[in-house]
Amino acid sequence: MTVSILLRLAWRQSLIRLLLFYAVAAGLGLWLGEVWWALGLATAVVAARAYWRLYRVLRFLDWRKQLRTVDGQGLWAALETLIHRRQTENRRRGRRLVQLLRAYRQAATAMPDGALVIGRRDGRLVWFNKTARHLLGLRYPQALGQPLSETFLAQPRVQAWLAAGETDEPLTDLASPADPMVRISLRLIPYSSSQWLVVVRDVTKLMRLEQVRRDFVANVSHELRTPLTVVHGYLDMIEPGEHPELATMVEEMRRQSQRMTQLVEDLLTLSRLEAQESLPEEPLAMAPMLVTLRREAEALSQGRHTVRVQDTAGCDLTGSTKELHSAFSNLVSNAIRYTPTGGSVLIRFEPVAGGGVRLAVQDTGYGIPEQHLPRITERFYRVSTSRSRESGGTGLGLSIVKHVLSLHQARLELESEVGRGSTFACVFGPARVRMRGPAGNPGADEGPDVVS
Ligand code: ADP
Repeated sequence: MTVSILLRLAWRQSLIRLLLFYAVAAGLGLWLGEVWWALGLATAVVAARAYWRLYRVLRFLDWRKQLRTVDGQGLWAALETLIHRRQTENRRRGRRLVQLLRAYRQAATAMPDGALVIGRRDGRLVWFNKTARHLLGLRYPQALGQPLSETFLAQPRVQAWLAAGETDEPLTDLASPADPMVRISLRLIPYSSSQWLVVVRDVTKLMRLEQVRRDFVANVSHELRTPLTVVHGYLDMIEPGEHPELATMVEEMRRQSQRMTQLVEDLLTLSRLEAQESLPEEPLAMAPMLVTLRREAEALSQGRHTVRVQDTAGCDLTGSTKELHSAFSNLVSNAIRYTPTGGSVLIRFEPVAGGGVRLAVQDTGYGIPEQHLPRITERFYRVSTSRSRESGGTGLGLSIVKHVLSLHQARLELESEVGRGSTFACVFGPARVRMRGPAGNPGADEGPDVVS
């Protein structure tokens, strides 16, 4: 029976029964000659019954017991029936939820990856599965409710990564506290406003393969270095004037051997960067760096481009001078190489919102079609292989830039439009910014906007 029909019937029955009851009471009163007494008594009986039913309902609700199914009629019976129905529904829903929760927990427990739920505000462990227990050496149930500072996740590297919060980048290649031979990676999933889900993955095999690949590339590059130096040396000894018939061939051989040497050097640089977890933290004076970059650009351009430098940041950086110079030079050299004669290159060192700075290299060159942008920093990825080769490129420059920046917790930003030019920018966080000392500012006498 639907609720509205049930209520309508209950009202009608209650009213009829009440009227009948009062009619009988009035009849009895008339017969006894005490009508008012009889009606008063009837009212007292009605009130007492109402209080008794109300007390029954409240007592059941208070004890959280389920009301028995009621067979009676009238309003009170309808009320009890409704409460009974709601209680039964709620219980069924509760049971279903518990079953679902159990199924989810079982699925999460059976996952081959470790999973941890961490409270965002207090950093306490709320839940973790069996794999997380093994991979992170957590003890169950002691670790539950513990702050992270008392677990493996207290490591400064993990803490900094967690503090960065909503990052998509996983934290890779950490040694498992349970077994240092096991390498793990962590991925942070902000799945609710109050909790984080951390997925822990065993990446030992992947890391081993990666190591084999790195060693292979490093060894091959290293082995190629000596024969190349020898070939290069002998080629340099050949005087083009002595054998005019061989002049073109020797020139081409020289060019190719130089290209190979550059390739080997770039591969070795990449291997070296990949093997490093951090770089020296030195003060890097940006004013002389900008002057050097401008000189390098001019030397490469040979007067074919306009080179300008703008310094509106007025600060220095902290990091590895050698590696950052190599990254900036790569961007400047690309800007010159991929900009036709008559174009211009602007090197800007400027502040960004949030206290960081960026070094942007803007050119008016060929530009890069949009579909290539996501892959542009991959090794050997070139938009135009012939253009890259002609200009002496190895296809490794931007990979080196990306690695250097990631070792400085910085990122590469790229904007480009075909036919209009590109802007490659290295964006550094506030932690990398240093106040510029008065002595270390040789570029300042040239003003903030330096045009050459
Ligand atoms: P390469 O040694 O070939 O220049 P990079 O890794 O430095 O290798 O660059 C990868 C590719 O990105 C280049 O081959 C080129 O196609 C493209 N590229 C890089 N910088 C620029 C730029 N400033 N303008 C246009 N294309 C660029």
